[in-house]
Amino acid sequence: MAILNIVKEGDPTLRKTCRPVTEITPRILRLLDDMRETLEDANGAGLAAPQVGILRRIAVVDTGDEVVELINPEIVESEGEQEEVEGCLSVPDVWGITHRPEKVKVRAMNREGELFEIEGEGLVARCFCHEIDHLDGHLFTDNVLHILTPEEVAELMEDGEEED
Ligand code: ZN
Repeated sequence: MAILNIVKEGDPTLRKTCRPVTEITPRILRLLDDMRETLEDANGAGLAAPQVGILRRIAVVDTGDEVVELINPEIVESEGEQEEVEGCLSVPDVWGITHRPEKVKVRAMNREGELFEIEGEGLVARCFCHEIDHLDGHLFTDNVLHILTPEEVAELMEDGEEED
């Protein structure tokens, strides 16, 4: 496994639409392994393939219980709303309040090529939405309601929030 370089805002890769995965190849499996390791190393909550320069519809999300690998993920149901803090490994040192559904159900393929569904709420729902947005070239800052001031960030850091 390897720790991959995370590209930052301004890199054109982050603005492209990613292609679906049509076949689980050894290269895709290695990418999933490397993305998991990169996410862990960065201490993030989620990571999408374009953030490591790969234009494929792949993301990994740490739900707190496990790291979920999402291939060709889609939100198939959403419910409620939330306005909470989000950050991004590709937009360092910026945190903002976003408007997201409180709960989502995601359908994706796993590394065996099987379809599965997973539900998330709160932070995990935000993270699913955030990572799937990356696959269509969107950053959380595109629709942010409010960017946190340095004072608000300092307060947040005391509470120990993770980056998506
Ligand atoms: Zn992000």
